[in-house]
Amino acid sequence: MISTAHGRPDGDACPHCGWPDRAEPFQVVSRHNTAGGHTVWTRCGCGSLQMRVVDACGMRVVSRSRPAEQGAADVRSGAVWVT
Ligand SMILES: [Zn+2]
Repeated sequence: MISTAHGRPDGDACPHCGWPDRAEPFQVVSRHNTAGGHTVWTRCGCGSLQMRVVDACGMRVVSRSRPAEQGAADVRSGAVWVT
């Protein structure tokens, strides 16, 4: 089933795989305390790295990268992918 009523592609779900921001993060990479709350780095199921800010208003995604397959493929040292 494909829903075409996804009005906010970058609002409340991963634009790459559709993972809802409200759902449990696929993987928590690290947490950092800040003055107003804390910052959480998470990795989505598709490999996209997300920076989330948690404060009195709740948790929101403020930045995200592209999926690992596209964004960080050549960052992996030692792994050569011959096309
Ligand atoms: Zn994703």
